[in-house]
Amino acid sequence: MASAPADLMVPALIERKRDGGTLTAGEWAALVRGYVAGSVPDYQMSALLMAVVWRGLAPAELAALTEAMLASGERLRFERLDRPVVDKHSTGGVGDKVSLVLAPLAASSGVAVPMMSGRGLGHTGGTLDKLESIPGFRTGLTLAEVESQVRRIGCALFGQTAEIAPADRKLYALRDVTATVESIPLIAASIMSKKLAEGLQGLVLDVKAGSGAFLPDLGRAVELARTMITLGETAQCPTVALITAMDRPLGRACGNALEVEEALQALAGEGPADLMEVTYALGEEMLLLGGVAPDRATARARLERAVASGQALATFAAVVEAQGGNPRVIEDPDLLPQAREVEVYRAPGAGVVVAVEPRTLGRAVVEMGGGRRALGDPIDHSVGFVVTVKPGDCVEAGQPIASVFARDRRGVEVGLAALGSAISIGEPGRRPEPLPLIVRRIAGTEEGVA
Ligand code: URA
Repeated sequence: MASAPADLMVPALIERKRDGGTLTAGEWAALVRGYVAGSVPDYQMSALLMAVVWRGLAPAELAALTEAMLASGERLRFERLDRPVVDKHSTGGVGDKVSLVLAPLAASSGVAVPMMSGRGLGHTGGTLDKLESIPGFRTGLTLAEVESQVRRIGCALFGQTAEIAPADRKLYALRDVTATVESIPLIAASIMSKKLAEGLQGLVLDVKAGSGAFLPDLGRAVELARTMITLGETAQCPTVALITAMDRPLGRACGNALEVEEALQALAGEGPADLMEVTYALGEEMLLLGGVAPDRATARARLERAVASGQALATFAAVVEAQGGNPRVIEDPDLLPQAREVEVYRAPGAGVVVAVEPRTLGRAVVEMGGGRRALGDPIDHSVGFVVTVKPGDCVEAGQPIASVFARDRRGVEVGLAALGSAISIGEPGRRPEPLPLIVRRIAGTEEGVA
């Protein structure tokens, strides 16, 4: 790859961005090339990123930055595949195991799904960490392995390889340590440069809103969704977003192995109602974008049939086997890592559940060892929570409403304390309305409350 031209005046570009000006597509391309090649140093890129955090990016600059990040690596190729290639991306939350269910489900319903996923970030869980709780499961596939597995099985679940958007890998690591992650254009460019490398015919975005989300504020979540949709459309990849509720955990389980177990129940048709509703809604969008269902009702019926017939679960089993995991976990989830300590949490009083605060539970999972505080930390896949109540449920004093799964007594204490502060029980009629599960659908210029 060519490095930045020797005459690239990086300080002048930083100054222009700092003062509210715009850079050309050629300047963005040269900056990204130079950064990947090492001729633009971290300190200059950090200053530029901070200028972007403050000044934002004009639409043409955002498209140019995304294109430059995409062009820094390779793309998946699915020529002559007999079905459309469609993916889903979630901005992340607590208890969000949708990818584990949706990837094999959509693949069993007529689309191919090369699902590139991430690890846990802050208080949010990551699909790769969840999958690695399956003994032997390998998430580090090469692009050739992904392509061949998608052709054979219709689905692969893997991590960002060194070949895909290397500029994003380097930039993300820099943003993480320079307080420049929370910028809508930088988040959008980072996510879309990776997703557009998958060679997709369509992309569905699950943008979470609420206190457990990366961007809790609904207005910011909508802005992020619109920004990513524009980038998708610019790159000829039709993109649709659902804004979904993350003001309480999704489903019942929070924690890696516990979420895999719940995903297996969902694939067997026994998943919690909220998890199934979000999964089916995203699945409908995937089948519609892929053009394999003429309308929403047909798409829904096809997805439900894939669960009822056992096909979705069989596809998940095939993925597990192909990626080196023990397929016996499908029949026997007790083969997943088991917590040494399990303790029931009981409602401290009678009343209505007012809130189940997801960020508190996500942070506690990390503290109990189920997430990382520093890059490369080992994680304990067995720990977490199962919370069996939702906001609006009535409970009696002493009723079991959750369980803590921990590796030792200290973990149990951390977990019980987190449940005590996350689950609020109050008087009927005095609760704030939770967000609707599907808050909004955004597609191009069209927007609606689902
Ligand atoms: N996830 C990404 O891939 N990039 C971001 O910038 C934030 C979340």
